[in-house]
Amino acid sequence: MENIDFTDGNFQSSKIKSYIKISFFIIAAIYLVFHYFIYWDPGENCYIKIKPAFMEFSNLDMKRALHTLKFASPEDYQAVCKNVSTIDPMIGCGGFGGGCYYTKKDAPQSSLGSEIMVSTSKDDLVTTMAVIVHEACHAIQNKEGRPLSETECYQADDMLLREIIIF
Ligand SMILES: [Zn+2]
Repeated sequence: MENIDFTDGNFQSSKIKSYIKISFFIIAAIYLVFHYFIYWDPGENCYIKIKPAFMEFSNLDMKRALHTLKFASPEDYQAVCKNVSTIDPMIGCGGFGGGCYYTKKDAPQSSLGSEIMVSTSKDDLVTTMAVIVHEACHAIQNKEGRPLSETECYQADDMLLREIIIF
């Protein structure tokens, strides 16, 4: 077999080669960001950022939970899409498979107010969905300037769980 060396004395082709390399890395990086950190459902006008999960690689579980929620409970899904801009898959606040929400009194309408924390446990799609709906309920309360009520939000995830069981 003949070995053709493009780099040898051919400045132009080595330049093209490095362009191809760079664009490959850029495309790969964009793909990875989209694949792991962005949930995008253009049909429903749904766009949610998912922060990197350092302790558990749960970003794809989160996307799976959102996608399942879309079919399990379209109403809850739309509420999540409308009121949640960022999901932080943090373990610390709610423990494994839990979640939490912090009020942003200074900026209830900003993207800060629509960030929820949800940690997923592997293979537990249903819990993840329920936690997302529960924390989205708090984000709505915050947006509407109401105090965070657990009763209302437990009802929200309770109803979802019942729907899923019937479903
Ligand atoms: Zn709560």
